[in-house]
Amino acid sequence: ASVVNKIAAGEVIERPASVVKELLENSIDAGATRVDVRLEAGGRDLIRVTDNGCGIEPDDLMLAVSNHATSKIVSADDLFEVGTMGFRGEALASIAEVSRTLLRTRTAEANSGAELRVNGGVAEAIQPAGCPVGTTIEVRDLFFNTPVRQRFLRTPQTEIGHATEAFVRIALANPKVHCRLEHGQREVHDLPPTDDWRVRIAALFGDELAESLIEVESVDPPISLRGYAANPQYSRANNRLQYLFLNGRNIRDRALQHALGEAYRGLLLTGRYPICFLRFDMPANLADVNVHPTKLEVRFQDGGRLYSQLLSTLRSKFLSSDL
Ligand code: ADP
Ligand code: MG
Repeated sequence: ASVVNKIAAGEVIERPASVVKELLENSIDAGATRVDVRLEAGGRDLIRVTDNGCGIEPDDLMLAVSNHATSKIVSADDLFEVGTMGFRGEALASIAEVSRTLLRTRTAEANSGAELRVNGGVAEAIQPAGCPVGTTIEVRDLFFNTPVRQRFLRTPQTEIGHATEAFVRIALANPKVHCRLEHGQREVHDLPPTDDWRVRIAALFGDELAESLIEVESVDPPISLRGYAANPQYSRANNRLQYLFLNGRNIRDRALQHALGEAYRGLLLTGRYPICFLRFDMPANLADVNVHPTKLEVRFQDGGRLYSQLLSTLRSKFLSSDL
């Protein structure tokens, strides 16, 4: 079973960035208003995520690191109406399978905390621990027991780049959450909570870009599209600054990216890509996020409708603004 677990773990956990993504999503699901991420050596030595969320009951702690244990899905029907980021219950188990993991957690009702260590999938006994309300998860020596995967890790600079990108996507989707990222002695980001998406965008990408953004809003019930598209003077040689969100979750979607390209057609030089921050909100049953374990890709019930909504909204916006 252990080999099977390790193979399965590899599907979800590819590199430090996957750990950062999964742990941050859990913190968001736990209702955290503050999340601190600390990495050492590009995350190979240490990934630590501390949140002030709801914590885990000591009785549920062992379950939290077991395969397919999720507190978030109650019935099979829920699978089609996922409101939380996580729902498969495999992330923590996978992480604990391929690292030395420490969970330290306390709920608001408990007067003290508890901690659990899992080394390469082998859990120790749960111990009492003094800690504030919330959860800290420390992941050390990622892939220490899967040397092949460890060999695939790149330099700390490359890994920190991917991990930072995972952090940025979640920080963008959750502007009300205070998010901090440290790598070694360096503070990479410290993003205070805000109600204004533009403030978070400015904190991440600079005031100049944020001030040039064109606001986009189009509501076609039950689908709404809101956010910002950058003035065409801001473009990129790649499409990495095209941030799309669906119900608070960062997604990649080729069709929607194509719609963006079409909307900017004639406004950008060839080989340049627009920058945008756009979020779609719709009832969860109009999109299937359960397509792939990492959940970056979704299947829309009516992709064509979203394509047209995005294209026509941006086109009319560009026609009415002085570009
Ligand atoms: P999923 O998120 O798909 O439910 P995970 O393996 O990521 O599965 O987490 C397993 C369970 O552990 C979650 O369902 C949740 O109950 C608990 N959990 C994990 N991280 C946290 C956290 N930071 N705060 C509170 N509970 C957590
Ligand atoms: Mg999860």
